[in-house]
Amino acid sequence: MANRKCPVCGNPLTGRIDRKYCSDQCRYLENNKNKYDAERPILEINRRLRKNRAILKALCPIGKSTVRKEVMVAMGYDMTIFSSLFLTTKKQVYYLCYDYGFTPLKEKGVEKALIITKQDYMNTWDPWKFVNKNNEANK
Ligand SMILES: [Zn+2]
Repeated sequence: MANRKCPVCGNPLTGRIDRKYCSDQCRYLENNKNKYDAERPILEINRRLRKNRAILKALCPIGKSTVRKEVMVAMGYDMTIFSSLFLTTKKQVYYLCYDYGFTPLKEKGVEKALIITKQDYMNTWDPWKFVNKNNEANK
């Protein structure tokens, strides 16, 4: 077993055959690297959510406002990231980032967003209320 090496530092592994690292330090480093790798996609989405929320907050200082989509985009808003959504009875979708959100509008062909702060009634959401006919088994 002379050729076995520590995957972290490359030192030769000696001692017990099931030993994976040369030292406690190397085992610690490797375990934390794996933890960080597993968390990376979550951290990345959280970062983008926070950025979106900061943009909504900056554009909506008094509870409600309408802005052009291009303003949001220019500020770096990521339309694909939101923490929850709400659909009104008129089937208007609100995309929320924590406690702020928006719904898309069109005024004379111009794409805009009505930005709002999250309301308590938006905390109720039943996905099965909106089951697509294709997903209904009636047999
Ligand atoms: Zn090592």
